Amino acid sequence: MQWNYEQALTAEGWRRDVAVSIDAAGLITNVAPDSPGVGTPVKGAAVPGVANAHSHAFQRALVGLTEHRGAERDSFWTWREAMYRLAATITPEDLNAIAVQLYVEMLKGGYTAVCEFHYLHQAPIGGRAMGQAVIDAAARTGIDLTLLPTLYMTSDFGGAAPNEGQKRFVHSVEDFLRLRGDLQADGVVMGTAIHSLRAVPPAALAQLLAGLEGDSPIHIHIAEQRKEVERCLEVTGARPVEWLLANAAVDSRWNLVHATHVVETEMAGIRAAGATVVLCPTTEANLGDGVFPAEAHLSASGSISIGSDSHVSVNLAEELRLLEYGQRLITGERNVLSSVGEPHTGVRLHKAAAAGGARSSGRATGVIAPGTRADIVVLDTDAAALFGREGDNVLDAWVFGGFADPVKDVMVGGVWRIIGGRHGREDEIADAYRAAISRLKSV
Ligand code: ZN
Repeated sequence: MQWNYEQALTAEGWRRDVAVSIDAAGLITNVAPDSPGVGTPVKGAAVPGVANAHSHAFQRALVGLTEHRGAERDSFWTWREAMYRLAATITPEDLNAIAVQLYVEMLKGGYTAVCEFHYLHQAPIGGRAMGQAVIDAAARTGIDLTLLPTLYMTSDFGGAAPNEGQKRFVHSVEDFLRLRGDLQADGVVMGTAIHSLRAVPPAALAQLLAGLEGDSPIHIHIAEQRKEVERCLEVTGARPVEWLLANAAVDSRWNLVHATHVVETEMAGIRAAGATVVLCPTTEANLGDGVFPAEAHLSASGSISIGSDSHVSVNLAEELRLLEYGQRLITGERNVLSSVGEPHTGVRLHKAAAAGGARSSGRATGVIAPGTRADIVVLDTDAAALFGREGDNVLDAWVFGGFADPVKDVMVGGVWRIIGGRHGREDEIADAYRAAISRLKSV
């Protein structure tokens, strides 16, 4: 099949009348700019799809319920209690309904794949129904899935036993590896997640890593909260990233989620290992985590990817905008995350997120070029925010002109999943989601 994009961001930059050939497996086989009349025309501005590098789908059901202060001052840790209460009640059917709705929202928000950091396992231990609910949700919507079954064993550094709210997350390493094997599925990239250094003791981490094969992605929550860094220092004598780099063979498979609180030597170590830092700006802002030193990391050619994590927002442009705005508020400057080589901030951040998302998801994506998956997002150049914009200014307008999302059409693996801003099944999916939310409310 062959499509002709009115304008597209290719590996060589913006081009017009771009004919893109796609094979039956959903891979791009040829990209031919300046080819008017070749292939079926697609109006608008085409950019590479981006993988959402960090998702806990069930947390979508918590949105709006934690934005008020309790009796004490609110924090990540009080939010976590509310999240545990929700987690305790969710059935596989609930998770499927929530994830299907969420994945439609992701496609409509400019994401073409999702890395699902899956720790809400089934009770009793070993059941695969919760993981299957996620796999089925991705298949129903057409988003590409990288499933990250998550090992979770303890409640704190030093091997503290899991508390009541965490019991459903817990496995032995052997049971975990068996579950991971049981969840293999066609079309799903199977990665691995370590919940955090809090949740996996050193011996178990070594045992897990010894049991993993191949080059599939490994994800870990690493340094989200200051309290976590302090506890790690108390118990191990090292900061979390410092400890991980010293005790695991960190390489380009690794994705350090919320490497928020890092010092320069840790950042240099992450880059030397070729690991990716996964940033979730809206969730990190919502939870009061802190601000990652993104300017230093990007200017030293560090890799980043973007996740929507708790899904307080499911919008790629908003994540990129907030990432830049955090830096502006700290430095008192503008266009902090641009560079001499890539002066357009929106373009540089989108390219970084696309390239990093490919690494985080373990898929050949992030650029419209032969040999990569045909994951393509088409922006509506007739939308008010984009009107009259060309090339790099289109992407800048998408990222910074945030009042209406101009994502029009979305292709995943050569198949159109969003057309004219709508998913073909979104009404029935929304009905099922409403039913699940009502059920959870009454629990
Ligand atoms: Zn997370």
